Amino acid sequence: MMQQIEIIQGDITQLQVDAIVNAANSSLLGGGGVDGAIHRAAGRELLEECRQLRRCETGEAKITKGYNLPAKWVIHTVGPVWKGGNYGEDELLASCYRHSLTLAEQYQIKTIAFPAISTGVYGFPMERASKIAIAEVHQFLHDHNSPEQVIFVCFGQSAYDCYLRVMQEFTEK
Ligand code: ADP
Repeated sequence: MMQQIEIIQGDITQLQVDAIVNAANSSLLGGGGVDGAIHRAAGRELLEECRQLRRCETGEAKITKGYNLPAKWVIHTVGPVWKGGNYGEDELLASCYRHSLTLAEQYQIKTIAFPAISTGVYGFPMERASKIAIAEVHQFLHDHNSPEQVIFVCFGQSAYDCYLRVMQEFTEK
C-alpha cells in the first residue's frame, strides 16, 4: 500500500484537501455538528445543490462542489443512528466509508478528509466507530490505487487520542 493515512486534530472545514466528507442526515438539508459547520463555511450555494439531490440513504454517499470551502468537493454520507449495536450499525458505518471512497476514486480525488461519522448526535461509541473507520479505509486503500491520502480529522483531544490508539493497535496486528 503506497497511500497514506493520517490522523489530525482540528476543524475539517479549514482543510485544503480535494474533498471533505460530511456526516449528513438523510434530508441533506443541513443540521448541527460537522454538517452545520460545513454548510456555514461553504455558503448558501451548497444548500441549493443539496436540495436538488433530494436525499441520501443511510450508508450511502453523494457528492457536491465545495463552494466557499478550501476543499473542492464535499462528499455527503449518512451514518447510522446508534441503537445499541444490534441493528446493523457497524455494517452501515463501514458502508459510509466505502461509498465515500468509491466516489472519491470516480472523481479522481487525491486527498480526502473524514470526520468521525455518527459519533456526535448519532451516538455511535467513538472507539468502536474509529476501529471500523480505520479498518475500512485500510481495506479500500489495499484494494485500490486511489485516493493517495486519507486524513481522519478528530474534533477534540479525546477523539484524537482514541484514533491514535486504535491506529497503533491496528498496525501492530
Ligand atoms: P453525526 O450526526 O453523524 O453523529 P455530528 O456532526 O454530530 O454527526 O458528529 C460527528 C463527529 O464530528 C463528532 O465526533 C463531532 O465531534 C465531530 N465534529 C463536529 N464538528 C466538527 C468539525 N468542524 N470538524 C471535524 N469534526 C467535527
